[in-house]
Amino acid sequence: MFLVAGPCAAETEEQVLAAASVLRAFAPVFRAGLWKPRSQPSTFQGAGSKGLAWLQRVEREQGLRTATEAATPEQMTQALEAGISYIWTGARTAANPIAVQALADTLREALQAGRAKGLRGVMVKNAMHEDAPLWAGNIRRMQEAVNGYGIEVMAVHRGCNHQPCWGMAYALHEEMPDVPLLLDPSHLSGDAKRVAPLCRKAAELGYDGLMVEVHPCPQDAWSDARQQIMPEELAGIISGLRTDRKAADLPLRWLRAMMDEVDDALWETVHRRMAISRRIGEWKRQTGVAVRQPARFEDILTRRIATETANGLSEETVAAICHALHEESIRQQ
Ligand code: PEP
Ligand code: MN
Repeated sequence: MFLVAGPCAAETEEQVLAAASVLRAFAPVFRAGLWKPRSQPSTFQGAGSKGLAWLQRVEREQGLRTATEAATPEQMTQALEAGISYIWTGARTAANPIAVQALADTLREALQAGRAKGLRGVMVKNAMHEDAPLWAGNIRRMQEAVNGYGIEVMAVHRGCNHQPCWGMAYALHEEMPDVPLLLDPSHLSGDAKRVAPLCRKAAELGYDGLMVEVHPCPQDAWSDARQQIMPEELAGIISGLRTDRKAADLPLRWLRAMMDEVDDALWETVHRRMAISRRIGEWKRQTGVAVRQPARFEDILTRRIATETANGLSEETVAAICHALHEESIRQQ
C-alpha cells in the first residue's frame, strides 16, 4: 500500500520533524497541511508559507517525499516552487470546479515553465457531499493539466460527513480503474478509534494506498485532535495489513461494504423512529390517550403497502416490516 502519513497541520518545525523521524521508517510520503481550511476564523489557520521550509527539511534530511494541500493558485505556485513532491486538493475545494480548474491551470503553466520540477503526483479528494461525477471531473481536470509530464494523479476517498459513501468510491473506481485509489480514514471518520478498522477495510477492498493523519502528541494537536493517532500506532496498523488487490471476489466485498453502510443507516432510522415513538408515548400518557391506536396503524399499513408494492416489494414483506416496527414502537411507548 502507498502510504501518505503526517499531521493534519504543520504546527512547528519541531512537531514536523518529530513526526517525520518516526514515519521515515515505514511511510514514503509525509503529509502536512500548511494552509488549513478551518470552519472558524478564530482557530489555527495553518503555519502558511513559512512551513514550506520545514517540509523541505523533511525531504532533505529525512529522505521522505512531502505532500501538502493547495487551495488557491498562489498556494499551488508556492508549493511547486518549493519542490513539494505531492499536492492534494481538499474536500472543500472539490465542491467548486472553477477553483479546481484554476489550480489545474496554475499547475499546467508551472509545468510548462519548468517551475514544478519536484512534483511527482497530485491527489484529488472527494467533496463533502456524495458526488462521484464531480470527483471524477476534478480528477480529469488534473489529468489534463499534467498530461505528458509523467505526474501521477490519484484519488483520495475521505468520505462525506463522517460516512464512508463506499458506493461513491466504487463508482469512481469503476469509471477510472487506472486511477490509484487511496483511503483517508482520518477525515472519513473524524475519530482516532475508527482509523485502524478503516485501514483494514481499505486493504480488504483493494485500495492502492492510505492517507492517515498522525501527530507526535495527538491530544495537543492544533487541528483535528480527535482523529489523529501516534506515528508508532500507524506502524502497528500497517504491519498487520494484508492486501490482496487481485482477489477475485473484490466486487462482492465492495457490494457488502455498501450494504453494511445502508444497514447502518437503516438502523439509525429505526432508532430515530423509536425516539419519536417515546415522545408520542409521553404525550399519550399526559393526555390519557390509549397507546394502541388501530385506525392509525391501519392507515400507515395501507399507505405503505400501496407505495412499496409499486416499488417492487412483496406485500408480505412490507406488512411484516410495518408490523415489526409498530410492535416495537408500542413497546417503547
Ligand atoms: C486535510 O487532509 O488536511 C484536509 C483538510 O482534508 P479534507 O479536505 O479531506 O477535509
Ligand atoms: Mn485534518
